[in-house]
Amino acid sequence: MQLDTDIKYLPGVGAAKAESLAKELNINTFEDLVYYFPYKYIDRSRFYTTAEIRSDEIAVQLKGVISNFRKQGVKYKEHLTATFTDSAGRIELVWFKGIDWIQKSIVPGKEYIIFGKPNFYQGWSIAHPEIEDPLKAEKSVTSQFYPQYSTNETLKNSKLNSRAIQKLQQTLWSKVTSAFPESLPQYIIQKYNLMPLTDALRNIHFPKNEETLAKARFRLKFEELFYIQLNILSIKSAKNQKSHGFVFNNVGEIFNTFYNNHLPFSLTGAQKRVVKEIRADFLSGRQCNRLLQGDVGSGKTLVALMCMLIALDNGFQACLMAPTEILATQHFATITQLLGDMPVTVSLLTGSTSTKARRQIHEDLQTGVLNILIGTHALIEDDVKFQNLGLAIIDEQHRFGVAQRAKLYHKNITPPHIIVMTATPIPRTLSMTLYGDLDVSVIDEMPPGRKPVKTTHSFDSQRLMVFKFMRDRIAEGHQIYVVYPLIEESKNLDYKDLTDGYESICRAFPPPQYAVSVVHGRMKPEEKDKAMQLFAKGITQIMVATTVIEVGVNVPNATTMVIESAEKFGLSALHQLRGRVGRGGDQSYCILMTDYKLSSDAKKRIDIMCRTTDGFVISEEDLKMRGPGDMDGTQQSGTPMQLRIADLARDGQVLMAARGAASDVLSADPSLQLPQNSVIKIRQNKLFSKDDNWSRIS
Ligand code: ADP
Ligand code: MG
Repeated sequence: MQLDTDIKYLPGVGAAKAESLAKELNINTFEDLVYYFPYKYIDRSRFYTTAEIRSDEIAVQLKGVISNFRKQGVKYKEHLTATFTDSAGRIELVWFKGIDWIQKSIVPGKEYIIFGKPNFYQGWSIAHPEIEDPLKAEKSVTSQFYPQYSTNETLKNSKLNSRAIQKLQQTLWSKVTSAFPESLPQYIIQKYNLMPLTDALRNIHFPKNEETLAKARFRLKFEELFYIQLNILSIKSAKNQKSHGFVFNNVGEIFNTFYNNHLPFSLTGAQKRVVKEIRADFLSGRQCNRLLQGDVGSGKTLVALMCMLIALDNGFQACLMAPTEILATQHFATITQLLGDMPVTVSLLTGSTSTKARRQIHEDLQTGVLNILIGTHALIEDDVKFQNLGLAIIDEQHRFGVAQRAKLYHKNITPPHIIVMTATPIPRTLSMTLYGDLDVSVIDEMPPGRKPVKTTHSFDSQRLMVFKFMRDRIAEGHQIYVVYPLIEESKNLDYKDLTDGYESICRAFPPPQYAVSVVHGRMKPEEKDKAMQLFAKGITQIMVATTVIEVGVNVPNATTMVIESAEKFGLSALHQLRGRVGRGGDQSYCILMTDYKLSSDAKKRIDIMCRTTDGFVISEEDLKMRGPGDMDGTQQSGTPMQLRIADLARDGQVLMAARGAASDVLSADPSLQLPQNSVIKIRQNKLFSKDDNWSRIS
């Protein structure tokens, strides 16, 4: 059997299904199908009863009747519930999508087999269970490890549900008569006691027992992480070898004047340490590529400014790029204020900079009159040319892609030093994979006097109490954010939520006693900026906003944040939002408002937020709950984070082993010339040839 055979030639596929497989799952060949792994296994060796459901960890198989369909909620909150009854009792079934179709296709009172993961909320329920007619069910399937393949609505419409994919696997594997070529060298297989490739692949689809499944998984996870780490490590070492960087010898007058006369407070220990680490990079003769992690409010801006001043002291220019106009504007304001009367020139360049001002900036950059340029991605446009850019800082990296980082490299003949700042704490396993080519510094200490934000959960029905709380805070002279979800700026429903909310707040907080600002994605940049300024200056007491305020905005007098529909936000977004308060010495509050009905995942997220303010704890939890594929930023990062089998939240140990193996291989044989490593070379070329994101970095 040829692994590279077009999938349409597999019996049971054909042209139409082949097209769906290619489009939805990127399965084009037999090999692609072999590498399309189940995402879970269901125990079909036994039926559970509703009384035996104990945990939400295991998907269960139940037999019983479905009745009592009820449509609940309106519009986008509409969902369908039904009662599932077996000999032992009853549970609830819930559907959020395909409601009409479900209701039409299920016969009330008839016996069905259902599978699904139970959820606990005032009793057990299963959302979107898989439903099977016992008469049509395959009697032969009594496996403890019945594989489940993920599919979507489009695939299901092409008759490609999980079971159909499993059948295709069966057809394919019935043709496999000899072993596939190994994808790891024998010495590594031996050293790490790995299952041979073909056995591992067969067992991942058709596990013989628990032990072979565990071995198969380990082998495939190891291999996946090994090649990612190998790729990252070779990019890193290539970069270290070839990349000359400017040497910044001087800590001169500009830095010292600032440090001695303009610093409004003393640096935290962590800030000092990080400045030292970056300075060591500047002196090393190599290009600095550093990720600066620090929780929201840990004081990254100041560190950025001090690093830029070192560049200036050495005769270079520096730039700072932020993801949004609001944030760039704010950095500009903060930095010009900190610099005061120092002889340093700073300009702001964003999408709304006038043509005239823009021309002046272009000219001043080239003549060297301008020392520091702050801006949005307008900074990386081709017509922005520096006389001598020595340092580029990117704030809130997760909003930018790797390609944008690469563009900055080319703003000088010798690439400038690069510092990437992020407030999204990233667990070590993830940062090693996502930013494995960067060195990492962490600001792990908050400025003194910060009080942790008190976080509470309120239901929509308690809104009047929340309004009272807001009035009390305003009476104390403080300001308040009220945030609405807006996943995509174009979503009309969310927009309606926001405008309804804004109106009700205006009614509850009427002039002249109160003034309310509003900021959302449909406003022009100038309007947004004006509203922000009114709030920042304390002219308005309440800021109603969408998540545009998520990153970076700094109004220390705003001490309360109310997050509407908090159940719609992911953990890291909630954490970022909450970071907008608690930025001064006053006690701050965050109120998470939700609907009365919450999924168990949403409930977990809210609980975590109420329990801790530690960004690292939150991001670990987030990774555990969601898996890294969904982590903010991983999608755009350019890293192949769509891992097939490894799970960065749980497979830290496999990752360490794989990284160790990759590093051993590269130190013994940097360019993979040795015969025993030819297997690796072939596989690596195959895996990464299509992916040019990697080469673009260097
Ligand atoms: P972030 O890391 O989220 O970008 P900022 O740089 O915006 O944080 O800093 C948050 C707030 O903390 C700002 O108001 C800043 O002036 C203040 N700050 C920064 N460093 C210190 C320090 N060493 N001591 C006291 N306050 C500080
Ligand atoms: Mg910041």
